[in-house]
Amino acid sequence: MKTIKRILFGLLCSAFIFLAGCYNFSSEQDSDKLQVVATTTMLTDLLREIGGQHVQVTGLMPAGVDPHLYKASARDVIYMQSADVVTYNGLELEGKMGEIFQGLEEQNKTVISLENGLKEEDILAAGESTTSVDPHIWFDVELWQKAAIEVAKGLSAADVENATSYQANLESYLIELEELDQYVTNRVNELPKEDRILVTAHDAFSYFGEGYGFNVLGLQGLNTNAEAGTGDISQLANYIVENDIKAIFIESSVPTRTIESLQAATKAKGFEVEIGGELYSDSLGDQENNTETYIKTVQSNVDTIVDALK
Ligand SMILES: [Zn+2]
Repeated sequence: MKTIKRILFGLLCSAFIFLAGCYNFSSEQDSDKLQVVATTTMLTDLLREIGGQHVQVTGLMPAGVDPHLYKASARDVIYMQSADVVTYNGLELEGKMGEIFQGLEEQNKTVISLENGLKEEDILAAGESTTSVDPHIWFDVELWQKAAIEVAKGLSAADVENATSYQANLESYLIELEELDQYVTNRVNELPKEDRILVTAHDAFSYFGEGYGFNVLGLQGLNTNAEAGTGDISQLANYIVENDIKAIFIESSVPTRTIESLQAATKAKGFEVEIGGELYSDSLGDQENNTETYIKTVQSNVDTIVDALK
């Protein structure tokens, strides 16, 4: 079975290499630099921070795109095939791309998975599940520091010549993340403990909750594949009324309708809950909203949350 898979993968790759010629991909590359492909926008930002001037990063997913549902395009596969290093989040985040990473590893491509930088006790289970894991590690800044360490380790191994530069970039970025962690903690501390309840469209914020003492409730479960049922909506509406929750939040990479129906269900029970604003969950924001980096996105989220719940 494995052999058949490998042959199929090989055939697929030859087809893509042919296509690569048509795209004239090589002309887009700066050949002096280490060519790195990253899946999510969070990861692309991290690779740029740690890689600095020695790395050319190609991010596969644009801002606002949902990584749970993302399927690699033919062009993406070409990028991954011709890259020196491929990086991904892991923990089943890029659910539709698992076989591609496996194929690349079998071809001895350097592949960095952030998952490998975490300890078992860092990783949360997916809701009540005992078998699935929660992939949304980025909103606990301490875990993102571990991700940064893993990236620096991987780049240094792939490009020994520039290892000291990657280590220096890592050290200064870790300090920035330390300051960010403090910023989030300070903002959260503006809220009394009983008001630290975050209701959003899907369960992307459990690590944020764990890291900063928030009770987090998502309407849609961990994976955006599953639709919220009317029973869930009604239950959560009751919870909002009982706990006198001021605001609930929409997410940039999830359609707004589920949160709107939650607001309507709460209103039907005679309680007004505000939509507190848009949170970035599975993607960074953009330049227009001053949220194009990981640090700015995390700041924006905590500001939105605290300002609406205050
Ligand atoms: Zn998600």
